[in-house]
Amino acid sequence: MSVEYTNGNINGNTNENKNGKTNGNTNGIINGAKYAKLYDSRRFITNNLVNRLEEKLTSSKLEQFKINKIIENAIHWCLVNGFVLVPKSRKQEELMVVTYLPFTLFPTPFNKNHFEQVIDLQPHVNELINKISNNDDFMQKSFKNLTVIDNFLENLWCLYNKAKDEGYNQKINFSILRTDYMLHQGDEDISMKQVEINTIAAGFGYVSTKATMLHREILKWTENFDALKRLPHNEPVVKMAQGFAEAWRLYNVKNSIVLFLVLDIEINIADQRHLEYEIQKQEPLIEVHRCTLAELNKYGHLGEDKTLYFDDKEISIVYFRAGYDPSHFKSQVEWDTLYRIEISKAIKCPNIGTFLAGMKKIQESISIEENLEIFCKSNKNLLKSFFAEFFLLNTSENIEKVLENPENYVLKPQREGGGNNFYNQEIVSILNRIKSIETCLNGNVNGKKIMEDRYNKDFYIVMEYLRPLISHNYIISSKYQQKLYETGKQGTLEKKKITNELGVYGVLVKNGDEIVMNETCGYCLRSKLAEDNEAGVMCGSGALDSVYLVD
Ligand code: ADP
Ligand code: MG
Repeated sequence: MSVEYTNGNINGNTNENKNGKTNGNTNGIINGAKYAKLYDSRRFITNNLVNRLEEKLTSSKLEQFKINKIIENAIHWCLVNGFVLVPKSRKQEELMVVTYLPFTLFPTPFNKNHFEQVIDLQPHVNELINKISNNDDFMQKSFKNLTVIDNFLENLWCLYNKAKDEGYNQKINFSILRTDYMLHQGDEDISMKQVEINTIAAGFGYVSTKATMLHREILKWTENFDALKRLPHNEPVVKMAQGFAEAWRLYNVKNSIVLFLVLDIEINIADQRHLEYEIQKQEPLIEVHRCTLAELNKYGHLGEDKTLYFDDKEISIVYFRAGYDPSHFKSQVEWDTLYRIEISKAIKCPNIGTFLAGMKKIQESISIEENLEIFCKSNKNLLKSFFAEFFLLNTSENIEKVLENPENYVLKPQREGGGNNFYNQEIVSILNRIKSIETCLNGNVNGKKIMEDRYNKDFYIVMEYLRPLISHNYIISSKYQQKLYETGKQGTLEKKKITNELGVYGVLVKNGDEIVMNETCGYCLRSKLAEDNEAGVMCGSGALDSVYLVD
C-alpha cells in the first residue's frame, strides 16, 4: 500500500469544489479565483481503505446494511470502552450522560518518514522549551510590547516576575508537551511544519490510544488485515505517568499527593481520568486529587516553608488542566491561587515560565535565526526546518503584505484552546481597522490605551497559512448523526475531504541541570473537514484519528 500524491481528486471528479468554497476561505470572496486554483492544485493522499469501502457501499444493499452495522459496532465499542466525552451543554437530569468522541472510520495513511522525523524531534523540542523558560532576558524581550496591551499576558507576566522575586522554590522541572504539526504542501516540497507547541494541558493522550484500538477493530471488521501491522503502537499516558512517578519520587515525601487542577465543567473526562489511573497503576502510593483553582483557594493553603497543601495533604505535583484561558480566571481569587502555587515548593506541570515559553509570540521569536541560536547550536538547522514563516505587524510593509494575500496567513493572539485565530476576511477587517485607527491617532502612542486589544497590531503574530495534504475519510460523530436523524437521512454515510494535524507528546523531567527523563511518548492525530480552518474535536466538528504508516 502506498500514498499516492495525485494532482486533483482521486476519484477523478474534477468538477468538485469549483464553487469557490475553498479551504480557509469561508466567504469565498477574497481572491476567489486565485485561491480556488491554489486549492485545486493541492494534492491528495489516497486512502485505499476508504476506496475499498466505497466500492462495497455502491455494490449492494446488503453491503450497505453490513457497513451500517459496522458503524453501530464502532459506536458501541466507543461507549463501552470509554472513548467518550460529557457534552458541555447538558440539562440537570443529563449530568452523567456521555456520548462517544467523534472519530474517523479509518486511520489515515501517513508517510513513515515524515512521521518518524517529528517523533524523533520531540526530545529536542522538550529541551528547547525548557531552555527558553529559563531565559528571562529572552522572554522579557519577546513579550515587551505585548504585556502592555494584552491583559491576560500582563497578569501572567507580573505573576511570573513576582514569583521570581520571591525566590524560586522548586528546582525539579516536569513538563508534558504536545507539538502539533501539519504535513504542509509548499511551493516546492511537502514537509512537516509546526503549528504550535502546547506547554500546558496538552490533551487527548489517552483517547488517542483508544482511537488506534478502535481503528484496529474496524480494520478487522472490514477485513483490512493487511493494514493492521501499519498502525504504530501508541500509549502516550504510559510515559506521562512515568514522568509523574519520577517527579513524585524526586520530591521525596511519601504521603504527598498529586493535584490535577481542572475546570468546574470538564467534558474530556476519559482523557484525564485514565492518566490518573495509569499514574496509580505505576505507583500505587500516589494519591491523585482534583480541584479547581477556586477550590484550592478554599480548601488548601501555603505553609510558611512554602509547602502547598490541599485538604491538609502535602502536594508534590500540581498538574494544570485549567488556567490557560482568561475565562478560567473569574476573579482575583484564581490569580492569587495561581501565585501561591507558583511560589510553593510543589512541582508545577507546567510552571509559568514553561507556559509562557509555549506562547505564539515565542514561536515567532525563535523563528528568527539569531534567537534560535541562543538555545541551539548543533540542532539549530534541524529545528528550523520544521518552522513555518512568522512575522509581526510592526511595519506598514508587513501589514500590506498580509492585506495583499490574506489567504496566505493566520493572525494569532496569545491564546490557547482553539477558536482564537483569525483568517481571511476577518484579517482584512482587523487590519483595515488598525490602519484607520493609526491614521486617526497619527502616531500618538498614548492612544494605545484607548484601543481595544483586538485592534492593536502588537496583539498578534502573523503565521504563514499551512496547506496540509487532503485525504478522504468518513467522520462519525453524534452531532452529525443527530443531523442525519433529523433530516431522515439516517444510515447515510458521506465521504468527506479531510486534513489532519499530528500532535507529538513529549515528557521532560529535570532535577536542576540533570535530565532525568526526556522522551517522546506517543502521538495524537486530529482530522477536520478540509474546508474548515479549525475544528474542535470536543464540539464535534473535528475527529480523532490514527495513522497507518506507508512508505
Ligand atoms: P490553539 O492554541 O488555540 O489551539 P493553534 O495555533 O493550535 O491555537 O490553532 C488552532 C487551529 O487553527 C489549529 O489546530 C489548526 O487547525 C489551525 N491553524 C493554526 N495555525 C495554522 C496555520 N498556520 N495554518 C493553517 N491552519 C492553522
Ligand atoms: Mg492547538
